Formats: sequence, C-alpha cells, structure tokens
Amino acid sequence: MRITGYKSHGVAAAVALVNAVTSADGDDSADALREVLRTNGFFWHEFEPADADEFRRWGRTLRRFFDAPDLDEAMRLLNGLMLELPLHPHLAEHDPHGVHMHYAPPSSRLPDRFRATTLMHLAELVVEHGIDRTGVCDAEGCDRVYADTSRAGRRRFCSEGCANRTNVAAFRARRRS
Ligand SMILES: [Zn+2]
Ligand SMILES: [Zn+2]
Repeated sequence: MRITGYKSHGVAAAVALVNAVTSADGDDSADALREVLRTNGFFWHEFEPADADEFRRWGRTLRRFFDAPDLDEAMRLLNGLMLELPLHPHLAEHDPHGVHMHYAPPSSRLPDRFRATTLMHLAELVVEHGIDRTGVCDAEGCDRVYADTSRAGRRRFCSEGCANRTNVAAFRARRRS
C-alpha cells in the first residue's frame, strides 16, 4: 500500500496491527504480530515474543486515531504521541524500501522504530487527506479499521468481503420493498 510521492508502509502496518489487537476477530498472538511486521516491510526477524505486549499496547493506542470523531481529536492524539515518543528523523537505505526516512533514534529497538514509523506515516496521511481516508468499516457488525491510499479514496470498508456483503444486503432490501 503506497501513496504516490512518499513511502507509507507504516499506514498499512498501523491498520494491520490495530485490527489484529482490537477487532473482535483479530489475532494478537506473538506469531500474528510477527506476521504483521513481515507483510508490511519491517524487520520482523528482530521481533521477540517478549515485545508482544508493547505492540499490543501500541495497537490499542492507534485504535483511538481510527475512532477519532473529527480532525481536531485525531490531530490532538497524534501530536500528543509525537511529544511522547523518542523521535530522531534520519535517512536510511535498505530493502525493500530503498531510500526512506527513519523516525526513531538509530539505536532504537524494533518496538520504538515501529511506533515512530506508523505514527509519522499516519501523520503524513492526515497532512494529505485529513481523516477522510481512515476509519472503521461501514459493514454491519464489523469493527475493523481501514486506510484508503487509492487515488479515488472512496473506500468505506475494511475488505472486499465486507463491501460485497453490504452491497448484497442493500440489493435484497431494495428488492423486498
Ligand atoms: Zn527502514
Ligand atoms: Zn469490515
């Protein structure tokens, strides 16, 4: 998942972590958390099961961003976190991202680096689109979050499955009436 112009794998990672940790059907086991890191281009081999609680806490913290009722609240949350986290922006180059920004101090452990990158990429998304591109899935009974980095930006569901289910239900309701 990438927005043209800058590298934003932290956005997809934030969504995956929040869904793993806070959604009703999420899996927040250490293995599942490691998989979140692996599929989103983080140094998953540095993950240790002892770190899992830090990632779970961070997932619950970021949930508040996706739940934020308005831009002011979302900005307040992200600004507060930017003051709390150790941040030390610098350039890095490694696979699979090429040259990109790191936001945590160079010697930081994986959880701090993950927190810094997800936080800053969400902040960049807000700079670009406000909170129009993020939210909680519109499908009935689904509490998963999404981030829309497509050009059109009209996404309201966490997945194709939820979009289809909702469309079919709406179609049936129309036909009944
Ligand atoms: Zn990197
Ligand atoms: Zn959904």
